[in-house]
Amino acid sequence: MNIGNQTGMSDRSDKERVREAVDLVALISEFVPLDQKGREWVGICPFHDDHKPSMRVVTHKEQPFYKCFSCGASGDCFEFVKNYLKKDFGEALRFLAERHGIELTGSRNEEGLSSRSKMSRAMQWASALYVDALSSTPEGANATEQLHARGFTDETIKQFSIGVAPDSWSFLTEKLQGNTERLETGLEAGLLKKNEEKNRVYDAFRHRIMFPILDETSGTIAFGGRRLNEEDEPKYINSPESVLFHKSKTLYGYSHARTTIRNEKKAIVVEGYTDVIACHQAGITNVVATLGTALTSEHADKLSRVCNEVVLLFDGDNAGQLAADRAVEVFFQKNIDVQISVLPDGKDPADLASELEEFNQCIDTAVDALTFKFNRLESSLQNETTISGKSSLIDSFLNELTRLGVEKLVSTRKSYVYERIATLLSIPMADVGKELRSRRPATSQVAKTESVSEPVIQTSSISKARRIAEHELLSILLFDPTESSAALRENGSGITVESFLDPIAQRIALYILPKLQAGTLFTMPELITDLDDESENVATSLYFEGQRICETYESVLYAFKMTMSAFINIIEQQAIDEAVKGVQNETNSEDKAKAAEEAIESIRRQQATRNAS
Ligand SMILES: [Zn+2]
Repeated sequence: MNIGNQTGMSDRSDKERVREAVDLVALISEFVPLDQKGREWVGICPFHDDHKPSMRVVTHKEQPFYKCFSCGASGDCFEFVKNYLKKDFGEALRFLAERHGIELTGSRNEEGLSSRSKMSRAMQWASALYVDALSSTPEGANATEQLHARGFTDETIKQFSIGVAPDSWSFLTEKLQGNTERLETGLEAGLLKKNEEKNRVYDAFRHRIMFPILDETSGTIAFGGRRLNEEDEPKYINSPESVLFHKSKTLYGYSHARTTIRNEKKAIVVEGYTDVIACHQAGITNVVATLGTALTSEHADKLSRVCNEVVLLFDGDNAGQLAADRAVEVFFQKNIDVQISVLPDGKDPADLASELEEFNQCIDTAVDALTFKFNRLESSLQNETTISGKSSLIDSFLNELTRLGVEKLVSTRKSYVYERIATLLSIPMADVGKELRSRRPATSQVAKTESVSEPVIQTSSISKARRIAEHELLSILLFDPTESSAALRENGSGITVESFLDPIAQRIALYILPKLQAGTLFTMPELITDLDDESENVATSLYFEGQRICETYESVLYAFKMTMSAFINIIEQQAIDEAVKGVQNETNSEDKAKAAEEAIESIRRQQATRNAS
């Protein structure tokens, strides 16, 4: 990326001005709910599959930043917009400047724009033309009539920026004649098509009602075009996938629905644009639609950041059952409840939206995806008459659950699944785990953990308590190197890099301990540059942990003493345990006595060292 080259002096001051104007907490919480915790804000990290709030937003430092202490994502407002909204730096700068009424002085003309930005502008331009055509062309009058017949008000039509593509091969194309670059962009965005043989460019959408598909910042990224003439095929045309538009990540209506979804902690997912629009018009505003795909894990990621329950609403039985299969996968892998509701025969969400009571009943009677699947299995079992047939149905069902990762479920969900399986197989709950483990695929967790080799010492041989003690002490050293350095030199208790057994703790200690002991300090940016990714990730998380501990004890020095003494206690306790084990392992009574003597001597030595320091 050549952003660096384009960033001249004026751009740099643009950047500063914009950064100063942005309230990072307000910006991030538009997309990810944040809760205040002490001086910081915490939320579910949108950059990895986060199940507990791992992202922190720090605003009390000179330059506000966010940091995920699970995946390591971090940065300022520009980084957030770049990574979360998938914009390049120039787009992020313009996006934030526009919202804060800041006029940019740097030269960012069309030449400097990325092809993404150009496409995004082309989409915006086309959308405005389609909306304009709705009120200024005969096709527009026809479209408006059809929309009214569906019950859509003028206000709704405006709210969803519905437009029309006139019955013409060149409605957009003729406006771009002579501008090769813009024609190229139009082709790339899927607004135009090219007949290679005749070398002729023409409009991709003709004679259709145009529903713009928006991203989270309400920018148009694609269109869905519905035929105006019932004889035209197909009924719907969607924009092709592009750098702007990924079907599997996009939810129609999301930018309109996001606030309600967040407030109600629940999203309703339907199948079509018009269902979404009808629901919103009826005042049910937490409704979105997938774009011709089942709910994907990317959709679930997006929704799980703003709610904890998703209800999938299907019109037909068969479609519902197929979708349930997919939804179970999502349900297994994400921290989100997926419920399924199948609408009464012949009804669609748009019909129901006008009868709120019935609609709400449908939502309330939705069953979770897993129950849906169990129910479905039970009904196939009832239809199967042979015993071998029944057992093969159960067999493939259990294999599928295992493949999906039933053992990784959180305990409440797991016990629900186990209970259902126990009933199904008429076996005690206690035997379900064994039954499922016997089906475990070859490429399971076991193989994975074995392949992670530890350079210094097997992780499994370090107790959890030891690792926590090591990490807590490091966290204080990382959080306040100045105070820690003084305390360490006064009261170091003879700890060395080798005192740390956890490999990552050891790598961090190797970097900071000599510096602290010599009184030559380090800064977090230096540490981030010098350490390997894994250690850096742990170290930055420990920084926050250190801050928390110091705040709890209300003093860095006191926090240092407490974590240091916990660390030394655990080292000593383990040394004593080892010595005792050594005594027990000797069978010959003479050797046993000798080992005991050595053990006692070693404990004495340790206590002497400790008292001396
Ligand atoms: Zn993260």
